[in-house]
Amino acid sequence: VKQQGKNSYTYYSDEMTAKAKKRLYLEQEIRHALDNDDFYMVYQPKIDVKTSQVTGAEALIRWHHPIDGFISPNDFIPVAEESDLILKLDKYILDKVISQISHWQKQSLNVPVISVNIPSREFQRGDIVSCVQHTLHHYQVIGSQLEIEITERLLMDHCEENIKILNRLKDLDIHISVDDFGTGYSSLSYLVQFPCDVLKIDKCFIDMLPHSKENCQIVEAIIMLAHKLGKDVVAEGVETEAQYQYLRALNCDQIQGYYFDKPLDILDFAAKLTKCDVR
Ligand code: C2E
Ligand code: CA
Ligand code: CA
Ligand code: CA
Repeated sequence: VKQQGKNSYTYYSDEMTAKAKKRLYLEQEIRHALDNDDFYMVYQPKIDVKTSQVTGAEALIRWHHPIDGFISPNDFIPVAEESDLILKLDKYILDKVISQISHWQKQSLNVPVISVNIPSREFQRGDIVSCVQHTLHHYQVIGSQLEIEITERLLMDHCEENIKILNRLKDLDIHISVDDFGTGYSSLSYLVQFPCDVLKIDKCFIDMLPHSKENCQIVEAIIMLAHKLGKDVVAEGVETEAQYQYLRALNCDQIQGYYFDKPLDILDFAAKLTKCDVR
């Protein structure tokens, strides 16, 4: 028994060391990738259900590591979040996305609202508002081109302070969307207080549509609630015709998912956009 105990202790601590090593390695590689400009953004269209037009897009980060190959944001974003690296990464992403919008506009493309992900923990650290404001000004892009996808957790954390920050973003005409809605600690009273424009229903509820009666009821309730509060609804992770038809029947406003498009590189995304009328 003693032997076993000792072994399992050894095993446990080895595993911890391996994890810590991996995290340190990733941290160092993220730093390197930032300096080398190795990250890039892809853009996944959001389709207006009524008109079938592209009326938005979510910017998602990508990283092809020179040795380790493709690393998912699900793996490196949490590592960046554990240190102050995430603040640098946020700035980097905002710069990339806003300069890209400006670039497309110079090509006379009709650029829809582009959203970026800023998880809730980052709101309290770093001055997100002045960073956004400064970057918009630098590239001469108006705030209404931009949407920020916050997480539901923000509705709970440090309420007063976060409401202030969101209101300052709204003063810049930036849209606010609550990402992965339904998965977190959402409280209806906070939802009413929060200055947000869009609820984004998480993929996990969409996955089981229209076969799971419970999920159908949840999705229907979220859409009704959002519309009663004057907010738009986006469904993420729509993969099938049946899901699309179901959401359309429920008056969901926008759809994002593989059924229409995977996240696209900048050239493929630009090819989807129409040209502005030239007078
Ligand atoms: P998320 O914000 O919930 O983003 C949606 C994820 O679902 C994306 O994965 C997207 O590619 C994927 N997706 C979209 N439609 C479908 C579909 O029909 N089927 C399936 N199976 N998947 C679909 P991705 O790009 O791997 O991003 C994963 C997560 O990483 C994101 O979840 C977000 O939390 C985080 N992330 C991605 N880019 C950024 C970023 O630039 N900044 C920050 N802070 N986080 C990011
Ligand atoms: Ca998102
Ligand atoms: Ca999401
Ligand atoms: Ca999600």
